[in-house]
Amino acid sequence: MADMEPWGLPAVKLEPLRKMRALDALSDEAMVNLQRLNLLDASAPNPSVETLLHAFLPHKFVDHTHAAAVLALVDQPDGEALAREVYDGRMGIVPYIAPGFGLAKAAAQVFEEKPDVEGLILHKHGIFTFGETAREAYERMIEMVSLAESRLRQGRPVVFPAAQIAGSLETAAEIAPILRGACAIRKDNAEPIRFIAELRTGPEILDYVNGAELASYSQRGVVTPDHIIRTKNRPLVVPVPEAGALDDFGAAVQAAVEQFAAAYDTYFARENEAVGNTKTKLDPMPRVILVPGVGLFGLGRTAKDAAIAGDLAENTIRVVTDAEAIGRYDPLPEADLFALEYWSLEQAKLKGAVMKPLTGQIAVVTGAGAIGAATAKALAGDGAAVALFDIDGEAAKKAAAEVKGLGLACDVTKPEQVKEAFAAVCERFGGVDILVSNAGAAWQGVSAMSPTRPCARASNSISSRIRPSRARLCASCKSKTRAAYSCSTSPSRR
Ligand SMILES: [Zn+2]
Repeated sequence: MADMEPWGLPAVKLEPLRKMRALDALSDEAMVNLQRLNLLDASAPNPSVETLLHAFLPHKFVDHTHAAAVLALVDQPDGEALAREVYDGRMGIVPYIAPGFGLAKAAAQVFEEKPDVEGLILHKHGIFTFGETAREAYERMIEMVSLAESRLRQGRPVVFPAAQIAGSLETAAEIAPILRGACAIRKDNAEPIRFIAELRTGPEILDYVNGAELASYSQRGVVTPDHIIRTKNRPLVVPVPEAGALDDFGAAVQAAVEQFAAAYDTYFARENEAVGNTKTKLDPMPRVILVPGVGLFGLGRTAKDAAIAGDLAENTIRVVTDAEAIGRYDPLPEADLFALEYWSLEQAKLKGAVMKPLTGQIAVVTGAGAIGAATAKALAGDGAAVALFDIDGEAAKKAAAEVKGLGLACDVTKPEQVKEAFAAVCERFGGVDILVSNAGAAWQGVSAMSPTRPCARASNSISSRIRPSRARLCASCKSKTRAAYSCSTSPSRR
């Protein structure tokens, strides 16, 4: 929403949409077509799948959110009863119906049965509030969400009794390339399809991933249906990464990923059969990985998608924690969600992202001067997530900001700084695939050419420091690294 421009909010003619309510049924395709026929600007994007729900209500302003507090209340076995208790007649309660024409009609009917309600609670989905002014609709939203929050404050203070976790663990930077390598999709001899992985951690996340019952509450499904297109229905849970046992951890992760993918394939086959084998399977890899003792990783084909998965996973943790505090987290069953995951109107939301030659690849460029910054731009333009190291941290940050990348202060002649910088890249993006060893110093003149001269030794050491780190990282993500781009000080070799 923060990036949305007026163009992203297509205007439609209201009256023709309202007339559609007289229909008994309307397919999704026909609904989209009718909505498009009533656009004020023929080139506008498709109106929301909930356009008719807004249209069938008489109010001038209608707000809709998937507020975490409301979801914690309704994602319960007795969620509708809880919502009735909390809202005491001020909100209409709509049973779960998949978004689209059917939900729009049902919501309007619930409203008309009690036209003095201030909004609607959609069971296992979210909340609508309305009003004659934007302020009225907005203030009602805040009040209704606050009422849910005050009910949640009656919950248990300690929600997840902790499992026993080893005292000494591997770092997020060590395990991220292993997780990312295991989730890469390999097809014959083609370059693997890779994901960017973004770490999230903090006290609330650690309470959740360290819980003794993580395997139960984390696997019940998404908090509201449309999250499924970003996070899949379940996260991958991997074992605790105990210090000094990275090989065992790697093997366990590999097995867990294979099991996850096999379960996804089975789910797809079962649900696709129920709809007459009409759908094409999406990739079976997780989009959220929970690591006890460490935190969570959001996965996505781009850094932006990984961040969205991370945001939704953090929101999920908030909802599940609050839901378990007052009862039992109980979202929609899988069969209802398949329809959403493979609904053409939901998949259309993902269509904007164009896959480029380096999408999913992570590049490090050392030196953020003119050549480094231009190289970073070229790599980012081809789809890579880019980190820039420079002895001048501000210069690195400035060049990185241009490519929405990561800029780090790093003197590449100092092994400790190089190590720290690579660790930061692994935490931020999940690993390293491409290294452009560009940082260097150019000395002119005959004396600069002598290998015994300090300037030549410094220049050699700048590139040689980088190579061992690069080799180590590649080994840990177990992937063939692309040939590095040539650098100004010396050609990079493996
Ligand atoms: Zn919704």
